[in-house]
Amino acid sequence: MYILLSNDDGYLAEGLSTLAKALSQHAEIAVVAPDKNRSAASNSLTLEMPLRASLGENGFTKVDGTPTDCVHLAITGLLEKEPDMVFAGINHGGNLGDDVLYSGTVAAATEGRYLGLPAVAISLAGSGEELTHFETAAQVAVTLLKQLIDNPLPKDSILNVNVPDIPLKALKGYKATRLGQRHKSEPVIKGTDPRGRLLYWVGPPGAEQDAGPGTDFHAVSTGYVSVTPLQLDLTWYDRIEELNTWLPKENNV
Ligand code: MN
Repeated sequence: MYILLSNDDGYLAEGLSTLAKALSQHAEIAVVAPDKNRSAASNSLTLEMPLRASLGENGFTKVDGTPTDCVHLAITGLLEKEPDMVFAGINHGGNLGDDVLYSGTVAAATEGRYLGLPAVAISLAGSGEELTHFETAAQVAVTLLKQLIDNPLPKDSILNVNVPDIPLKALKGYKATRLGQRHKSEPVIKGTDPRGRLLYWVGPPGAEQDAGPGTDFHAVSTGYVSVTPLQLDLTWYDRIEELNTWLPKENNV
C-alpha cells in the first residue's frame, strides 16, 4: 500500500506530521502539502501561474499552491509511481456540516478521488483554537486504513472523518453520519489598516443549527468518531423533473 498524504494547514502542521508518522508504520507514504496555511481553499486549482515543488526541511514535499494543486501535481507527475490511496489531514479543527464546501482538507481528498483514488479527509474537531489529541485522530486513520482494505470505497465517493479532541481511550466508537448544517456565517469584521484604509476579516462560521442525532455534529459532540460518506456528484436528481416543468422548452427570442 502506497499512500499520498496532503493537508490544507501547510507542510509544517502538527496534524500532518502526526498522521504521517502513524500511517508510515503501516504503509509506504509520500507527503505533498502546501508551503503555507491554505485552509478554506476549497477545490481551487492554480491555472494562471506555474507551481514550484521543493523538499522541506522535514522531508515533506512543499508546493506553493493549494491543497488541490498538491494532490493534482503529486498524482499526475510529481510522484514516480501512482499512490493507491489519498489521506488528507489531520486538519486543525473540525470539517462539519457546511464546512465541507470550503474545506481544503476535503478538497484534497476530493482531488484524489477525481483522479481515481480512494480518499479520506480527516479532521480533529475541538471546541477552541487549542487542539491536543492529534494522536487520537492518527490512530483513527490507521483503523480506517485497515478497514478500507477489506471494504473498498465506491467510486465517486470519499469519507469525511471528524475525530473529537479527546484521548484515544475516551472515544466511544464510530458512527456513520450525515452532514449537519450551520446557521449562516457571523458578519464580516471591519477594521482599518495603519494608513486608515478600511479592511475586512471574514467572520467565524455560524453556530450549529441542524445538529441532532444522526449528524456529524452530534457524533463528535457525544464522543464518537463521525464518518460521513460524501458523493462527488452534486446533482439533486429528484428535482430534475420539477425543473423541467417551468424551464422554457424552446428559445423564442
Ligand atoms: Mn485547515
